[in-house]
Amino acid sequence: MKNRVFIGIGSNVGDRIKNCIDGIKAIARDRRACIRSASSFYLTSPVSEITQEDFVNCAISIDWDDTAFELLHLLNGIEAGMGRMRSIKDGPRIIDLDILLFGDAVIDEASLTVPHPELHRRKFAIVPCIEIEEGIVHPSYNKPLKEFLPHINDSQKIVLLKDRKEVPDFN
Ligand code: AMP
Repeated sequence: MKNRVFIGIGSNVGDRIKNCIDGIKAIARDRRACIRSASSFYLTSPVSEITQEDFVNCAISIDWDDTAFELLHLLNGIEAGMGRMRSIKDGPRIIDLDILLFGDAVIDEASLTVPHPELHRRKFAIVPCIEIEEGIVHPSYNKPLKEFLPHINDSQKIVLLKDRKEVPDFN
């Protein structure tokens, strides 16, 4: 059964836009994934305490024909293949691929939490998702994702970098 999934993509090392695009292309190459939509690309301030470069963030929606755990396995493999190290927690990263929403699923396992536990607290995750689907609902709160935005601290900077009209078609 296919699920509509939202994936958050981020990079703050090297050619950040290219890294995000390469990450999306790698997802698109898997036969279980069909890319439905991509958001604009945004420049965002890191939420971590560690001093580091700003991030480029975006999100995609895909139809995924396998389990959430298989998707996590694919994303972790793509991160590793692109040279991501896990040396510093919340430190700089070439690529970060997060499952933000997996249909209406609510999963609370050691290796996987869905919706992503920080989704409703992060502007850089919410804004691209609602750009793709304005009315998308957070299944744990049964509340539209956009309703979380006014409660987020203004210190989280998010600036449009590349409009989605200029983003390539990934299929
Ligand atoms: P991070 O360093 O923040 O990218 O965390 C990566 C680890 O978080 C992965 O190895 C997963 O086991 C775990 N994880 C838990 N929930 C999620 C999720 N929704 N999306 C991606 N990784 C997750």
